[in-house]
Amino acid sequence: MQRARYLTELENCQLCEWHCGVNRLVGEVGMCQLGLPQVASRALHPAPPSSYTLFMAGCNFKCLHCQNWDIAHWPHSDAVIDGRVDPADLARESITALNSLQASLIRADRLFFSGGCPTCSLPYIEEVVARARALQPGTLVNFDTNGFMTPDSLARVLEFADSITYDIRAVSDDVHRALTGAPAAPMLRNAEVLAAHREKLWEFRVLIVPRINEGELEAICRFLAGLDAALPVCFLAFRPNFVLENHPGASLDLMRQALAIARDCGLTNADWAGRPGLPGRAGSSSHDGLLGCGVAVAQWYARRAGCQTIPRDCGTCPQTNDCPVKQYQPLRRT
Ligand code: SF4
Ligand code: SF4
Repeated sequence: MQRARYLTELENCQLCEWHCGVNRLVGEVGMCQLGLPQVASRALHPAPPSSYTLFMAGCNFKCLHCQNWDIAHWPHSDAVIDGRVDPADLARESITALNSLQASLIRADRLFFSGGCPTCSLPYIEEVVARARALQPGTLVNFDTNGFMTPDSLARVLEFADSITYDIRAVSDDVHRALTGAPAAPMLRNAEVLAAHREKLWEFRVLIVPRINEGELEAICRFLAGLDAALPVCFLAFRPNFVLENHPGASLDLMRQALAIARDCGLTNADWAGRPGLPGRAGSSSHDGLLGCGVAVAQWYARRAGCQTIPRDCGTCPQTNDCPVKQYQPLRRT
């Protein structure tokens, strides 16, 4: 049987900045541990931009704070996912969903590819989008990303996406690595490219994790204001999840403080969202002595989850293919 064209480049996967070069078609896995693209779930979703959201399984990051850890770390999690879906079927179904009464009630106007990390499924997504637009020309598409894609992958996303939601967790490399396991530079480079295509940017999203990246806020705001002071920026309140399941959520004060910092840095289009004030739980206080050093606090949690590589650097870590963080099973979800 002839192989679908969109699978071909998975023979030597170079989709993201890890450049694993593995053949995902024969069971080799890279940093994302993903073989063939898999749909984790899909549903109409009212969060802006309201959409038919398609969550793709797998992720190339190992974020301690991950909210979607079960699908991001599939197949190491016990998440029940939708699995492989033929792109033509998914396109048909997506168009039907977007044209439904329920979609009009929540004003869903686009497909929204999220994850996990949709970059790991980029060729598949391109195929779904092409087929959806063949059925309904002009179908809008959002791409949700951690920014860790190659310049070529970003160019491809800019080609088909109408809007992009883009996460920035830190600008300092050590804080970024401590939180995500990945270097900051590719994400910063791509943020600059995206800022130059502002018409494609829905917003930069900055998750605020108290004690860990709150010290980064001013640097993040200065970086973004330096690109364009009018860029849309949304601060998201951290909620206790995954390896940080016992860590306290971002307070309302902290979110307001973020807005004040953004203003002081000259950003004119910043807002915040999420549910602030969720408490931490017993077991998270032993890092109190590390207060003031976000990297050390993150490292403390990573170590408790089994990561012995200090500083955390998934790209050179010998445990990459048997990563305890990827296999971490939290007891709490908020
Ligand atoms: S981590 Fe990136 S380069 Fe490596 S296999 Fe996954 S998508 Fe490909
Ligand atoms: S154990 Fe290695 S691969 Fe896993 S999070 Fe730590 S540094 Fe990254």
